[in-house]
Amino acid sequence: MRFYIIQPQYDEELQTSNFLPNLFNPADASVIARVSDSDKEDISRAVAAARRAFESGPWRRMTPSERGKYLWRVGDAILEHADELAELESIDNGKPRAVARVADVPLAADLFHYMAGWATKIEGNTIPISVPYAPGAHFHAFTLREPVGVIGQIIPWNFPLLMAAWKLGPALTAGNCVVLKPAEQTPLSALRLAELMLELGLPEGVVNIVTGFGETAGASLASHEDVDKIAFTGSTEVGKLIVHAAAGNLKKVSLELGGKSPNIIFKDAPNLEAAVAGAADAIFFNHGQCCCAGSRLMVERDIFDEVVAGVSEKAKRIKLGPGLAPDTQMGPLVSEEQLNRVTRYMNLGKEEGACYVTGGRRAGDQGYFVQPTVIKDVRDNMSIVREEIFGPVVVAESFNKPEELVLKANQTQYGLAAGVWTRDIAKAHKVAAALKAGTVWINCYNVFDSALPFGGYKQSGWGREMGHDVLELYTQTKAVVVGL
Ligand code: NDP
Repeated sequence: MRFYIIQPQYDEELQTSNFLPNLFNPADASVIARVSDSDKEDISRAVAAARRAFESGPWRRMTPSERGKYLWRVGDAILEHADELAELESIDNGKPRAVARVADVPLAADLFHYMAGWATKIEGNTIPISVPYAPGAHFHAFTLREPVGVIGQIIPWNFPLLMAAWKLGPALTAGNCVVLKPAEQTPLSALRLAELMLELGLPEGVVNIVTGFGETAGASLASHEDVDKIAFTGSTEVGKLIVHAAAGNLKKVSLELGGKSPNIIFKDAPNLEAAVAGAADAIFFNHGQCCCAGSRLMVERDIFDEVVAGVSEKAKRIKLGPGLAPDTQMGPLVSEEQLNRVTRYMNLGKEEGACYVTGGRRAGDQGYFVQPTVIKDVRDNMSIVREEIFGPVVVAESFNKPEELVLKANQTQYGLAAGVWTRDIAKAHKVAAALKAGTVWINCYNVFDSALPFGGYKQSGWGREMGHDVLELYTQTKAVVVGL
């Protein structure tokens, strides 16, 4: 096994004696690497480097075409290093290497390829204006879309490389400069990505990866007076702290937060087998560590027992194992903290009287594995029904009437995603329109694309990532009026 000691980009200035606690392989708790524990001062140095790069470096001054070509090459480099990046992701996060190889890595590359195209298409408008208090006067008015400036980005551990891509791609295509803090548990792929970007000739200071704790490095970045915008993905709880921290200089804020997403199966689902497989994938993909996980399975009463039995069978057959083992279908949770959090919820559900169809406890005694879990006989006020568990744990409920169903599905502080399975087109559209969620999947689940905007209603976030919507987060509009 390789052993990594990686420093941020401006390492000659760093206090090299400060390291985060060891990084652990979640499959067996062995030490895999040590990275720097950056503090407020390190963040300030990185912000200053990004500010210099933004104000006087070549990045925002180069032609959009050059910027786009550079970002395209980053996408290519990710694909060229796909095996290495998938291995890093697996060792660091615990997810199966094969999954990282077919999902995380190509999606990250595609994001850069997609965003490369936008560099040449960020345009303003010409606007005919009337100016009623200046009769007879003539003006030529237009808008420019300009980069926001220095961007702070804080990302979580569930898709470390992909989250780095989601954040860096749009910020860079618009000409911004960035300071990015990866999660303390999973900094390796973001560091390697930045290394690849440097090898491709990224000008100094444009991307600064600063490893460290959220409470120190992350909080300093969110509150920094010279950061123009902060983009955050993580828990709703920390999202609220980010909003407060950003108030000092009223920096712009975008947030991609938690979820408790309903996945609704009607008895007229076009293919019940596919719906059951989709329901299992909705909750068990990435070990349930997905903000959009279909963690509330809502099934029409007539087919409830059949669907729950089907999802439970799939849960029982999932092969748990270390991420690097070729036959592993589900790896460990990312950390001991998450293991404790998920097993605490499993125990809470039992105390509250829910029925566990399968799973419900830690798996084995080495590493951070838990059993894929299906729970029924739940009530609305149970914490396992209301709160985000962020593990492979689904609560199943039945419903009779679509009107009641929509009310119930929306009965959550979150609004990130939802699934609907039915062959009735009119019903599918009506339910999709009534659901308060940023993404609704009909007869599918977990379908992502760089061109599709992703983000939350209610307390699931502010703003949309990916698609052309994300450019709103990383540009600002300037109106220019010329008197003729
Ligand atoms: P956090 O929200 O704490 O972590 C996300 C990122 O924010 C990490 O980089 C973290 O740093 C950083 N951070 C933590 N505290 C602060 C702060 N005060 N100021 C600025 N940045 C901060 O999530 P956790 O890792 O603690 O996971 C807890 C729960 O959050 C999960 O169980 C899940 O419910 C939810 N979550 C949701 C995610 C999503 O995709 N929406 C992703 C991850 C978690 P560091 O980790 O280095 O300390």
